[in-house]
Formats: sequence, structure tokens, C-alpha cells
Amino acid sequence: MTAIRIHAIEPRSRANGPGVRFVVWFQGCTLGCPGCFNPATHVGDPADPALVGTTLADVVAQLDASSATGLSLSGGEPLQQPDAAIALLDAARARGLSTLAFSGYTLAEIRAQPRGPDVLARLDVLIDGRYVASERIGSGLRGSANQQIQLLTDRHTRAEVLATPVAEIRIGPTGELVLTGVDPLKRRGLE
Ligand code: SF4
Repeated sequence: MTAIRIHAIEPRSRANGPGVRFVVWFQGCTLGCPGCFNPATHVGDPADPALVGTTLADVVAQLDASSATGLSLSGGEPLQQPDAAIALLDAARARGLSTLAFSGYTLAEIRAQPRGPDVLARLDVLIDGRYVASERIGSGLRGSANQQIQLLTDRHTRAEVLATPVAEIRIGPTGELVLTGVDPLKRRGLE
């Protein structure tokens, strides 16, 4: 069975791509962008052993229960677990869902990776490139201006991607606040 290390899952998000997205944040990233917005995803998170132990079958079962219209992979770095990314994207495609990934690698870098083309072949949209804090924009799914919206199929238009809300706040089942999106806090005086 393909191993997967996950930081978090959001079963129904409107701030991580067009429509209602099932979002998987992968655990682990070695790219080291200064000012990274999610440093807790860089290494194993001992505070969350249940998620680290999640199996692909568990994730797919949650996907089926979500009624989402798309799958979004984020992180952490999905391309540093390509076999798991491919398995999840295959599950999404088999269910007719749209597919999107955020990666710190550029499209050219992904094409040069051994499994990169296999990941790209299963994606409708890729947001690519390192996060550059000095070029921060936080809109249209891009954290910084150097990142690009790569439309790899004709399933979504650029306008649909750009219309994705920059933030969402959801109250979780135990009352916790769940904040997601490319600009969930900084421009709203919430921190
Ligand atoms: S690629 Fe993403 S998760 Fe990795 S360091 Fe850069 S911003 Fe952070």
C-alpha cells in the first residue's frame, strides 16, 4: 500500500480552488521558502500522530463522504510524496472530480522529476513556484506574484481560479475555528 504523510484534511473548502474542494495538506517540505505560511508542515508533527498514521484508504473514504466537487493537494509539498499524490489524484479522477495542486516547484522542475509528469497528467490546475515573501499578493490562489496559474486541461478557466475566495473561516465539529485560503488573516486584522 502507498504510504502517505498528511498534515491536515479539510473536507469542504471554497478557498482552495473552484467549487467545493476536498483539501489534503501533505506533511513535509524541504524547499525552505523564507516566510513560509505553513512551517508546521515541514517536518513530522508529533502533536498530530493520528493524521500522520492516516492511510490512503482512509483519505479516499473521507473524500467519498465529503461530496466535494474537486480535490486540492497542498502542503507541505505534494511533489515530495509523488506516489501518494498520484494515488489520490487517480481516486479523484475516477470519481469525476476536478484536480488541483499547489507546489513550491515550478512546472519545469516538476517535469524534470521522475514521477513529475505522472502527477501533471492527472492535474487540471497547478499553482507553481516557491513562495517569495517580498512578492506577496495573496489572491487568485497565488501566495506571491512569481507563482503561476497553470491550466493543464480545459476543465477550469483562469477566471474561475481567480474568483476563488482568498479566505474562509469554518467552525469545526468540536467548535474549533478552521482558517484556510491564501490570505486567511493578514489583511483582516485577525492576528
Ligand atoms: S514550498 Fe510551500 S510549504 Fe514548502 S517552504 Fe515553500 S511555502 Fe512553505
